[in-house]
Amino acid sequence: MPQVHNFSAGPCILPQSVMQEAAQACIEFNGLGLSLLEISHRSKDFVAVMDEARVLVRELLSLSDRYEVLFLQGGASLGFLTAAQNFLPEGRKAAYIDTGTWASGAIKEAKLVGGVDVIASSKESGYDRIPEFTVPGDSAYLHFTSNNTIYGTQFKEFPKHENLLCDMSSDIFSKTFNAEDFTLIYAGAQKNMGPAGTVLYIVDKEKLGKTGRTLPTYLDLAKHIDKESMLNTPPVFAVYVSMLTLRWLKSIGGVPAIEKINNAKADLIYKAIDELPIFEGHAQPGSRSHMNATFRLTNEDLAADFDRMWKEAGISGIKGHRSVGGYRASMYNALPLESVKALTDVMYELARVKG
Ligand code: PMP
Repeated sequence: MPQVHNFSAGPCILPQSVMQEAAQACIEFNGLGLSLLEISHRSKDFVAVMDEARVLVRELLSLSDRYEVLFLQGGASLGFLTAAQNFLPEGRKAAYIDTGTWASGAIKEAKLVGGVDVIASSKESGYDRIPEFTVPGDSAYLHFTSNNTIYGTQFKEFPKHENLLCDMSSDIFSKTFNAEDFTLIYAGAQKNMGPAGTVLYIVDKEKLGKTGRTLPTYLDLAKHIDKESMLNTPPVFAVYVSMLTLRWLKSIGGVPAIEKINNAKADLIYKAIDELPIFEGHAQPGSRSHMNATFRLTNEDLAADFDRMWKEAGISGIKGHRSVGGYRASMYNALPLESVKALTDVMYELARVKG
């Protein structure tokens, strides 16, 4: 197979070894003579997968018993609603930071549930930065999106609040942080954790059950905790591949080890963007994401050459999101440093021949 440098924004590159093991499990799993896809989710073989996935999340993020780990469905998009339903008490307001499409999606859903204060937004400047903000003293919680996949911005320091809720879909497991500073973290699997189809919830269970609201069954995190993430049929394949990806992450040294590689990848691409006048970044330097680097050509006449050159170099998935244009290099955990090197080589070569 030709080597493809996969910069897709998500679903995205996963480790090759994970893909091979997952492919095999679709044919025959655990010596059962059956596929993973045709056994009961209540079988001991699958329960072991779910248990290991949850334990790996605990280990990789150093979570104490106060926290519960769930693998649910509905994507991060249902997480927007689930977050508000479980943590916004009747008659109170929550603070939200608007950093783009996904943060706005979270705001829209929370407004269906209760009072929402949008305390800061970078909409005016094309979501090119993390805005300054002050959290009102009476906010029930503070919600933010740690990495803005579309615009390529990322919180460098996490805000502080006694009830911190975060959509971490596009940077969870990419860098070290104290997960116990959070009341709720939720993240769609399809970037750093696995394939599309499951969403991870990390919940401080002591903070649940204080809204005074009766919740629809599937949105009630306490009910999922009671049933150990098996309230209904879980997305078995997505959980299995997530478990394999988390195993892989552990095997290479966990989050601190991947953080070093992620820093090196980001340094490489932002250095090219800064050094080469034919490119400019979308995100302001202080807000640049280590997961998604957004940039454009300063001279659109070079687009045909650039597009031809990166395609010839085996690069895939760097066209920017339609709302930002230009290019977006997504550099999730499984993307090797060599792939970023292949892209920056093309950028320098374009500058050399056309700059
Ligand atoms: N939040 C962020 C930060 C995202 O990047 C995405 C999707 N790329 C979503 C939420 C929506 O996730 P889903 O499609 O799983 O609902």
